[in-house]
Amino acid sequence: MAEERQEAGHVAANLAAIRADIARAEADHGRGRGSVTLVAVSKTKTAGEIEPALAAEQRVFGENRVQEAQGKWPALRARFAGIELHLIGPLQTNKVKEAVALFDVIETLDRESLAGALRKEIDRSGKTPALYVQVNTGAEPQKAGILPEEADAFLRLCRETYGLAIAGLMCIPPADEPPSAHFALLARIARRNGIETLSMGMSADYDAAIQLGATHVRVGSAIFGARPAHGANG
Ligand SMILES: *Cc1c(COP(=O)(O)O)cnc(C)c1O
Repeated sequence: MAEERQEAGHVAANLAAIRADIARAEADHGRGRGSVTLVAVSKTKTAGEIEPALAAEQRVFGENRVQEAQGKWPALRARFAGIELHLIGPLQTNKVKEAVALFDVIETLDRESLAGALRKEIDRSGKTPALYVQVNTGAEPQKAGILPEEADAFLRLCRETYGLAIAGLMCIPPADEPPSAHFALLARIARRNGIETLSMGMSADYDAAIQLGATHVRVGSAIFGARPAHGANG
């Protein structure tokens, strides 16, 4: 029990520090106070590990696997009101039904077959999650996301052919490069397509992302501690 309390205190203290630092970054970079939303990335963490964040009033969370999220969030939602859940990992078309049912925001729309499957499921279910398009700003072969040079055409396709409202853009810069050029590229694509929501920046680089216009930063390890390296998917 003592260990659990200590862990809870750790998460609450980390959250407080990150919140203060986001407010500091907003001020430093001339961003409006409260213009940046903290998405607490709770992938690989158990419900018990997430609870201290909920107790500390955190309500926006990110998960990267549909099945894992299904295993822990319905019960947490029954106990805590106002939770907003973001899918930040790749979405297979055969999981679209579950994803639309569970998530408020799907940040990883990145191909036409997924746009079509989302259109169908939104019509069928009457539930409309906010959709962000993921851009593979570093054109990394192993990474999901639409290529930067294909982004404008893909956004048009989503909007015009599939009638999907695209609320935002998301990127994960290459791990071995300075991220700022990638954040700036995502911001330029957003601006020319009339998109105001930018999900970019993680534990190591959210300050640079806020400087370049992030409206959502996705922070995991700085809140919940390190994850096992194996299979953590970035
Ligand atoms: C895991 C993950 C994060 C959080 O990364 P940290 O370095 O732990 O802050 C953010 N975005 C995506 C897409 C992730 O998969």
